[in-house]
Amino acid sequence: VAGDGDSPSSLLRDADSAMYHAKRRSGRGGLCVFDAAQRERSLRRVAIEQALAGAIAGRQLHLVMQPIVDLHDDGIVAAEVLLRWTHPELGPIPPAEFVPLAEDTGAIVDLGGWVLDEAIAQLGRWRADGVVGGAFVLSVNLSGRQLRSDLPGHVARALRRHDVPARMLTLELTESVILDPSEETTTALAELRALGVLLALDDFGTGWSSLTHLQRTRFDTVKIDRSFVDGLTYQGQDRSIVGAILALGTSLGVHVVAEGVETRAQRDVLVALGCRYAQGYLFDRPLEPAQFAERMVQPVPWRSHLRVVGDTMP
Ligand code: C2E
Ligand code: CA
Ligand code: CA
Repeated sequence: VAGDGDSPSSLLRDADSAMYHAKRRSGRGGLCVFDAAQRERSLRRVAIEQALAGAIAGRQLHLVMQPIVDLHDDGIVAAEVLLRWTHPELGPIPPAEFVPLAEDTGAIVDLGGWVLDEAIAQLGRWRADGVVGGAFVLSVNLSGRQLRSDLPGHVARALRRHDVPARMLTLELTESVILDPSEETTTALAELRALGVLLALDDFGTGWSSLTHLQRTRFDTVKIDRSFVDGLTYQGQDRSIVGAILALGTSLGVHVVAEGVETRAQRDVLVALGCRYAQGYLFDRPLEPAQFAERMVQPVPWRSHLRVVGDTMP
């Protein structure tokens, strides 16, 4: 507070002034404000955790679908299913907020099962109505806690019930899901593969040992995390990283999807780097199922040439 050798009176004066500045900077009772905000956050967390259990029965959930396009012709070859929750009092709660809580409490097992059933049922209807062809793929996010011994049976029954071939379903896993190579997880993954279900490694590049996972588990698709796509049009290393992931995809025979493409400039860099598949607001936001069905029969809105039907992501 005070310099060396100052008199007791100046020391007191400086201490006083330091206190004044501290108060001015953080406000009187600044710590109380922080406490209140924290208390509010934890109350909301508890409210969400409690409400999660009733979300399915309360019919508060629905699915949206975000198209994945082939950059060769901008045709829609696949779509990712994203969960939406609207609570009667709390309003819409983003999945980035409730999914981690549902993973903590274990509620994600039921929620994820519901998502799988709904998504496969929707795919069955679209297929029957000719909205999508047999080469279309629907991608569903999977949490680690869902990857248990009963999952392959659950998936197989849902596919059979709705007359959907297994190869029309991709399950998206993040690295954290496969970090634990327990026997149950490994067996469940092998059984899903044996069914013919496709696997995608989500948020690729954000984990700590992505390459190891590509070696250990056979993935059909790798999704480049949005954070790398974000940086593509700036000076930096993201171009090299994306280029390296694309080269890896080619040599391993794995499809690569770039996530979170928002601008023409990002798209153009991706095309120049040889990226074939992309997903993002530039092409489409996540769509309600009815909007998605309409979108499938429309020409590409942002580039307005007819898409080539039948060219697909294997
Ligand atoms: P994710 O699997 O990485 O999903 C992609 C997220 O990026 C979605 O957010 C999507 O709306 C958003 N997105 C797509 N294109 C763009 C873009 O161009 N720019 C930006 N800024 N964002 C874009 P959403 O729907 O909020 O979901 C967030 C996360 O919640 C998902 O990340 C996923 O981890 C999780 N999640 C969503 N639905 C489910 C589900 O059914 N089960 C599980 N386990 N997790 C889910
Ligand atoms: Ca995903
Ligand atoms: Ca992702």
